[in-house]
Amino acid sequence: MTSQDIRKTFLEFFKSKKHSIVTSAPMVIKDDPTLMFTNAGMNQFKEFFLGNGDPKSSRVTDTQKCLRVSGKHNDLEEVGIDTYHHTMFEMLGNWSFGDYFKEEAIAWAWELLTEVYKVNKDNLYVTIFEGDASESLERDTEAYDFWKNHISEDRILNGNKKDNFWEMGAQGPCGPCSEIHVDLRSKEEKDKVSGAELVNEDHPQVVEIWNLVFMQFNRKADGSLEKLPAQHVDTGMGFERLCMVLQDKTSNYDTDAFTPLIKEIETITATTYGSSEKTDIAIRVISDHVRAVAFSIADGQLPSNTGAGYVIRRILRRGIRYGFTFLNTKEPFIYKLVKTLTKQMGDAYPELVKQENLIYNVIKEEESSFLRTLDQGLVLLDNIIEKSKSKEISGKKAFELYDTYGFPIDLTSLILRERGFSLNEAEFDAELKKQRDRSREATKTETGDWVTLIDDAEQEFIGYDHLEAQVKLTRYRKV
Ligand code: ATP
Ligand code: MG
Ligand code: MG
Ligand code: MG
Repeated sequence: MTSQDIRKTFLEFFKSKKHSIVTSAPMVIKDDPTLMFTNAGMNQFKEFFLGNGDPKSSRVTDTQKCLRVSGKHNDLEEVGIDTYHHTMFEMLGNWSFGDYFKEEAIAWAWELLTEVYKVNKDNLYVTIFEGDASESLERDTEAYDFWKNHISEDRILNGNKKDNFWEMGAQGPCGPCSEIHVDLRSKEEKDKVSGAELVNEDHPQVVEIWNLVFMQFNRKADGSLEKLPAQHVDTGMGFERLCMVLQDKTSNYDTDAFTPLIKEIETITATTYGSSEKTDIAIRVISDHVRAVAFSIADGQLPSNTGAGYVIRRILRRGIRYGFTFLNTKEPFIYKLVKTLTKQMGDAYPELVKQENLIYNVIKEEESSFLRTLDQGLVLLDNIIEKSKSKEISGKKAFELYDTYGFPIDLTSLILRERGFSLNEAEFDAELKKQRDRSREATKTETGDWVTLIDDAEQEFIGYDHLEAQVKLTRYRKV
């Protein structure tokens, strides 16, 4: 089954169960001060769960473009290193707004996976919420009993509050969830260790594919829980992971959602995917990041120096950096992938086709200017290394490179390590903190009708990419 067919089959299945098919909301969110990017299918329906407004239909289904690089869901550091977390991915979902509940949600998920998609039942595990005594929350025996109709009991596992109890925020609708996991290991591996033991581990071949959330409580301002008057279902299935399962692969990157991009990267950079771990990671990073950046630009969010635009610029630069460092690409090339991407995804997301030229040109320009920065930075770093009397490079010098020339600190560390040098990280962190204190006042800038404040109170330096992804934007209407 091609990825196009897989997507279509999902939507058609829920249409046959009387769901209305809706279009994906934009990935870049413009009017919600609490969220920069859509990170789950339910975001666009948030107001319905909060009891504000009525949905046109009590059953809907869609595939939602999501980005998980900031806030509660930040997967950026995993992307490329592992084979099943992306920055941008599609989340297939079905919703019930006060309509059906656990029984149907479970039965339909099972029917779709095992009868329509024909996933081998012996590869599946499900989890249910085990309960939480501190909050007098009971084990989700309802879900357990419904699952029992479909799957043998030794494949229904308990999960804790972290994995199996979903909350929108400090207040609001919440409830237990059931996750579906798939074990794609060989028989030999399965004989050694049971999949049940790996379900809640980060195992690349025993992965979560679908999360079914049952909203049945409301968390009140005082932290206590009350039953919701109407119960809702919110599900999300990772499209690329589903493609991996149905196309009999063990990595999302081996599915046709990624292989055309990877082929193109191989051709342009004269490398072979699968030949070394380092180049493989770089190829995965680039094939992932070009999607995130292209979809953002298609949504009207160009790379820039503040807010969402800054996050996008950093994602692109991370891709450029991996190419520069591991694929030896000294010329812009990521923009060349845009055509392949549009061809692959343009049918499902026509905004890509519409904005193709803009995406192409913006990425090309960003690449050119960042590659110039990298070139200059490298010369300066060489200089620093040559002049250094010790094997440890001063954090002040590295900070200067970072601050004045935009040279990424993790690239500095990487190059230093490769040359047998190290970096005084404490010194670097101290410089960074000093700069933050200085700039706190200076970050207040006026942009048209808006005053933009970058509130970095919650930032903590835990690595360059983390730092850049956690920039929190607060908007105030100008008075
Ligand atoms: P994981 O535990 O693998 O990080 P999650 O529990 O954070 O996933 P959910 O918030 O439950 O994910 O999202 C629903 C589904 O979306 C997941 O079951 C998974 O299939 C998919 N998904 C989540 N994060 C990603 C990602 N970064 N890239 C691709 N698919 C993802
Ligand atoms: Mg996650
Ligand atoms: Mg999970
Ligand atoms: Mg989950």
